Order: sequence, then structure tokens, then C-alpha cells
Amino acid sequence: MPSTIAYIGLGSNQGDRLAMIFAALKLLDEMPGVVMGILSQIIETAPLGGPVNQENYLNCVVQANFTGTADELLANLQAVENHLGRRRKVKWGPRNIDLDLLLFGDEIIDKPHLQVPHPQMHLRRFVMEPLVQIAPDAIHPQLVRTMKQLLAELEDQQ
Ligand code: ADP
Ligand code: MG
Repeated sequence: MPSTIAYIGLGSNQGDRLAMIFAALKLLDEMPGVVMGILSQIIETAPLGGPVNQENYLNCVVQANFTGTADELLANLQAVENHLGRRRKVKWGPRNIDLDLLLFGDEIIDKPHLQVPHPQMHLRRFVMEPLVQIAPDAIHPQLVRTMKQLLAELEDQQ
């Protein structure tokens, strides 16, 4: 089975945020079929949406080579979230760890439980800034623009 270059967004705004990010990266690295690639900077960002008075987030994006399907990688990401005791309560509420599958090669997936590219990625600076650090020339297969272009467009709008 061929391997696919995937980009995964990580976020934490509860508990020991840096420890959560590092623990998630380590668990991901230990998953079968996963070979970790380059990691962005870890940036601190203000929460968007959800309840008021949430803590700031730490966010980063990591590249990973994955041997398997996008569904299998999503299952791995959810296993990492569950292992770290992610509590799913309020939508966009505080979470100790969040792992989102941003890009999976040039695949376009639209299933109820999995949309790739992640539908909001190009609208979120906390995704696009770290993603541009590690993959400026990667192409968004639906928007057919590079990550660098998408970040520039996002900055122009604000
Ligand atoms: P968000 O990350 O948007 O704040 P959640 O992490 O609570 O929200 O959402 C998790 C749900 O999103 C899961 O049930 C999962 O099936 C679904 N989902 C759809 N597409 C993706 C994706 N590309 N990456 C991660 N989860 C996804
Ligand atoms: Mg998520």
C-alpha cells in the first residue's frame, strides 16, 4: 500500500497544553503506519467561537507519512484524543487536545464523519500560519491554490 503525506492540526487549551501537544505527537509517532515528518512552530492563539473566557490555545501542524487510508488515519487521531482523555462536551468548547486531519495527499473526501481538506482550514489563521511554515507550496485540492496563497488571502480579508 502506498504512503500518503498528511497534515495534522493539533490544538490544546486546557490543562498542561504543551505537555498535551507533546504527548499527542508521541502517541501519533507510535501508531502503526505513521512516520512523522516536519513539525511547525507551536503558536499561542486566542480562542474563536464557543463559550467566552476560554484559555488561549497552543496550536501547531505536523506532517506525517501514513500507510493506510484517510479513515484509518482519522481513527488513529481519535484514538490519540481518547487516550489523552479528551472530553467532548460543548462544541468549540475547551478541550485538552484536538487533532484535525487537514490534508491527506490530494484526496477530496466528503463523508458525514470525515471531510478532507478540513472545511475550515483555509479560514483559520491558527491553522494556516503553522501550515505555511512547513508546507508553503502544498496545494489545496479543492481551492487549487497553495497554502502560501491561501494565507495571503486570509490576511487580506482581515
Ligand atoms: P472541531 O475540531 O471542529 O472543533 P471536533 O473535534 O469536536 O470539532 O469534531 C470532531 C468530529 O469531526 C468527529 O466526529 C469527526 O468525525 C469529524 N470530522 C470531520 N472531518 C474531520 C477532519 N478532517 N478531521 C477531524 N475530524 C473530522
Ligand atoms: Mg477536531
